[in-house]
Amino acid sequence: RLELLRSDDIPVTVFANEQVPIEPVAVAELQAMLEVQETAQAVYQACPDQFHTEPRLQKVAVTPDFHKASGIPVGTVLQTEGFVIPQAIGNDINCGMRLHLTDLSAGKVESHADVLETTFREMYFEAGRRIPMQWKHRESLLLDGIRGLFDTVDSAFDDGLWSYFHRTDRQETLARIDRAGSLPAAKIVGLESFLGEPDRVHRDSQIGSIGGGNHFVEIQRVERIIEPQIAHAWGLRPGQVTVMVHTGSVSIGYASGSHYRSQLRTHYPSSLLHPANGIYVLPLASPQEGTFWDAMHNAANFAFANRMFLGLMAWASLEKVLGEVAFPLLYDAPHNMIWPEQSDGRTVYVHRKGACPARGFEQMEATPFAYYGEPVLVPGSMGASSYVLAGNGLEDAIHSAAHGAGRQISRGASMKKYDREFDEFMKAFRVVTPVDFRRQEIARRRDIAAKKLADLRQEAPFAYKGIGPVIETIENGGLARPVAELRPIMTIKG
Ligand code: 5GP
Ligand code: MN
Ligand code: MN
Repeated sequence: RLELLRSDDIPVTVFANEQVPIEPVAVAELQAMLEVQETAQAVYQACPDQFHTEPRLQKVAVTPDFHKASGIPVGTVLQTEGFVIPQAIGNDINCGMRLHLTDLSAGKVESHADVLETTFREMYFEAGRRIPMQWKHRESLLLDGIRGLFDTVDSAFDDGLWSYFHRTDRQETLARIDRAGSLPAAKIVGLESFLGEPDRVHRDSQIGSIGGGNHFVEIQRVERIIEPQIAHAWGLRPGQVTVMVHTGSVSIGYASGSHYRSQLRTHYPSSLLHPANGIYVLPLASPQEGTFWDAMHNAANFAFANRMFLGLMAWASLEKVLGEVAFPLLYDAPHNMIWPEQSDGRTVYVHRKGACPARGFEQMEATPFAYYGEPVLVPGSMGASSYVLAGNGLEDAIHSAAHGAGRQISRGASMKKYDREFDEFMKAFRVVTPVDFRRQEIARRRDIAAKKLADLRQEAPFAYKGIGPVIETIENGGLARPVAELRPIMTIKG
């Protein structure tokens, strides 16, 4: 556990080890970002009435998958008081991870892999998805997330995937999603086109879409139990099949985010329009505050539902091929978000940009995780293991942990390099994409196949750091305890 940086009054704790060293460019980016404290002070001097309390960047933690991004590095956790930093959550609001367990054995799934591959392709990329929703369903989804769906979609509305939604238990589902997957918003910001028209059922192209790049739905098997007692309590067994979902708010979040950002810029005091590091602050008594939370919550609620539907699609596909399947939810949590929290009787704001919440058992009181802490889902890559851990609620880490292995080769460089290695990987591993490489007509359309392969190469296992040292750093740093290791059987990539 290192303390590399310590700005005058902002404690910064960096979690790293020799095998996952911190890049100097990322440290420089973080250092420049810390000037947001001065920006907040300047805005406070100019318009103190826009603040309930003097703004303070209280502390910063950096997770082991820390790497440079644009403006604020991925793996940065910030705690503020009096203001928030809208950029400190990345572009994909409520990008996050969800894990379902099943009662299937890996052998059974592996022996049906060919037909499952076809079924998944059909479900995720062809006719399968098409989720019908009415205006009132979409409205309550954006205003109140998963709870909103339970409140408005009645059991008679059971077309396609909705019959699977109705098989889930309301209380059990809400208890196993961070903040119940339901963030209250007073209004809908900039998303009129998503709502559709009153009294009409329509099928939107965004809900239930994986999104590109590193987003995925992955069919995995439990390779190894590391912490038997917790694994048992959480229902994880060796050889069991699990389904991991990684996606966010796709274009919906982008739309609400841009809408809100354009508003923020027009209201910003003109002398402060251009902070040198490009990082804006939002005072928490400003006229824009409500719009900000509403926009962020609309997008986050959408993302919770998006992950839920991607999970239901896997369930429906598995049942189509294998008959009745149990599909309990272990957990779902965002890794790009701002969470208001209570600390010594004051409200503070925890920002995570590419970091998992990893609260300890005391903070998980009154949830199914009150004995062992919050489940932490850390994926590796489509060619490496992923891990389930239990959070320790470490103060210095602002009760957070890494959210992945972290990229080691840029997208551009990955596209050009290591052709042979990637070809071998693609032969050995099953990746389900919109393009079926084995189909004759695709084989002939080399342009289509080449473009998709170039996209996939950006996500190749060699593009990511090793997951092992990241998990070791999380464990040794006291952020979370490893519970189980999962290996991919099949990865579905948008
Ligand atoms: P991010 O949220 O920063 O977009 O990505 C999170 C992490 O997902 C990456 O750091 C990487 O470790 C992991 N990842 C990317 N693609 C895949 C995949 O196809 N399968 C698995 N299991 N993990 C992946
Ligand atoms: Mn994302
Ligand atoms: Mn993500």
